[in-house]
Amino acid sequence: MTKKTKYSLCIHGGAGVIDESTISAGEKELILQDLEKSLKAGEKILQEGGSAVDAVCAAVEHLENSEHFNAGRGAVYSRNGKHLLEASLMEGRELKAGALANSSKIKNPVKFAKSLMNRDDIVMISGKESDLLAEEMGHEIVENDYFHTSFRKEQWQQAQKYAADETFLDHSNFKKGTVGAVAMDSDGNLAAATSTGGMTNKMEGRIGDSAIIGCGTYANNNSCAVSCTGIGEFFIRATVASYVSNLMEFAGLSLEEASKKAIFDHHGKMGGDGGLVAVDGEGNISMTYNSAGMYRGFSTDTTRKLFIWDKEEKI
Ligand code: ASP
Repeated sequence: MTKKTKYSLCIHGGAGVIDESTISAGEKELILQDLEKSLKAGEKILQEGGSAVDAVCAAVEHLENSEHFNAGRGAVYSRNGKHLLEASLMEGRELKAGALANSSKIKNPVKFAKSLMNRDDIVMISGKESDLLAEEMGHEIVENDYFHTSFRKEQWQQAQKYAADETFLDHSNFKKGTVGAVAMDSDGNLAAATSTGGMTNKMEGRIGDSAIIGCGTYANNNSCAVSCTGIGEFFIRATVASYVSNLMEFAGLSLEEASKKAIFDHHGKMGGDGGLVAVDGEGNISMTYNSAGMYRGFSTDTTRKLFIWDKEEKI
């Protein structure tokens, strides 16, 4: 494949019911600023000839540190009132990957996922063992309330009320804010990373797609790198991230065709709601979603753009 761009980077900050009437102009501005800073963090690495792995990790780390997203600081609350974090990262050259679920103390889950990727003895770890291993490997450990924000606490309290009310069916407003990034570097290597606090009021022990390679995250230099966001159960059942890759590698679809088929025809027809960002080996980008909106942006060596709905957002 001949590359169209020197590098490409694409990020998301979650999909779901993002309604103009429910986000204030100030909040929207702060979210867009964070998305731009995340792109800049990844771009810097790619401009200097760094790897796609380092770029997606830096872009996601920035969003984990922002309280505006459901990942790292700002993560949602579980049923028992904890923050249980999940992340995964994969590179497309050797298909190496790292993933963690239900961690409660790792400040930057994406950095831990990256260091797991470089071990031969483990791909995925969960629960308190993930916290212990991260600490042993020198990652920054924090108390669980480091992840607290009053916004997420209120959302959780509201979700608990709704959960008790069987007539309330639409929980989609409570989950937006998972973050992810995909990149192609100047050597043509691909990588993808995703990080989340999962679904608001989730059952303890529940594992979502963001922690699962092939479902929420996938990268393969033969096809593409993908990071997903939305109701994890559908993304797991539809193995969305690897489905996009397989449609390209084995059925010859373009990145855009494969992404649309995965989101609308496959996962969408099951009842799934969400989206994905993806990049292929030529640097083409897809940002496909079937929800009301998706925080997202991309940058290449020639352009940088941010979106929430269909129209480009200027800041
Ligand atoms: N996919 C995430 C999960 O199910 C949530 C999200 O992307 O909003 O845990």
